[in-house]
Amino acid sequence: IKKIGVLTSGGDAPGMNAGIRSVVRTCAFHNIECVGIVQGYQGMIRGEFIPMDARSVKGIINKGGTILKTARSKDFMTKEGRKVAYDQLKKEGVDALVVIGGDGSFTGAMVFSAEYDMPVMGIPGTIDNDIFGTTHTLGYDTALNTVVEVIDKIRDTASSHDRLFFVEVMGRDAGHIALNVGVAGGAEEVLIPEENLGLDRLLESLHRSKASGKSSSIVVVAEGDKIGKNVFELKDYVDEHMSEYEVRVSVLGHMQRGGSPSCFDRVLASRMGVKAVESLLEGKSNFMVGLLNDVMSLTPLEQAIKGQSKINLELLRVSDIMTT
Ligand code: ATP
Repeated sequence: IKKIGVLTSGGDAPGMNAGIRSVVRTCAFHNIECVGIVQGYQGMIRGEFIPMDARSVKGIINKGGTILKTARSKDFMTKEGRKVAYDQLKKEGVDALVVIGGDGSFTGAMVFSAEYDMPVMGIPGTIDNDIFGTTHTLGYDTALNTVVEVIDKIRDTASSHDRLFFVEVMGRDAGHIALNVGVAGGAEEVLIPEENLGLDRLLESLHRSKASGKSSSIVVVAEGDKIGKNVFELKDYVDEHMSEYEVRVSVLGHMQRGGSPSCFDRVLASRMGVKAVESLLEGKSNFMVGLLNDVMSLTPLEQAIKGQSKINLELLRVSDIMTT
């Protein structure tokens, strides 16, 4: 391998820049060339490559977002699009890829490497932590810290007005963010995609909380909660069935994806970048690097995509106990 291409794809996440920096510097360390590919697979098709050396990634370890930009590419989903992408890579002399993204981006990498015999390595970058083969994805820890900080602020106003807040956090398929920030932020209940609490139990829990002397409450709701209602519908439902609370809704939205990466994410990104590049240099391909038992591990991309990232049942129980 003489030249590695690195790209960020799918939803952005804090720590992606630290990951790019690590890939670039590991290439420099091993005396191989590195190019950044702008806007993920879309930029690959357009041939937008930026030569990168160790100095070109200075001052980015602490920056949110991704300097390479990210995109979703419809063209890359087609055989024709991938052919153009391959021709561009060949023209540029790129002979291996590091893809930083989520499972969609990994699927693209797998399809591409099967068609064109291009070695690929994945680095999981998504705040949702919904990828099998790693206990932490890049950006997850930062997002948790961001959300907890906001919940603390919401609690200030909730308790001043004796209000009940439904706080919607990201997580269409996975409740990792909701469960963790629920525990860390002292939420009354946590509604996640993996478990259906049921509306009756939610009401019961809120009644119990009120009766126990609590004047305000926070319920953390993952976007894809299994109860099947969005935060506004939940508010209406509780308004209808409980007069004790004044209910408010707060949808946190995209702010959860931004901000300077936490120490944990910067370190994780640095480790993942080294592992990804060195694995390619060892002749490995089609793996995702991940953190398992504090060791950098490789999981076949296919497993990483198909496998389920399970909710932590022990933590779910802790959450229940803490709301007593
Ligand atoms: P996130 O979960 O944060 O949104 P992601 O990586 O899962 O990130 P997607 O939008 O699902 O994001 O995928 C990113 C890109 O990967 C797509 O826009 C497309 O270009 C490529 N891709 C996804 N699936 C395939 C596929 N089956 N074949 C080829 N390319 C694909």
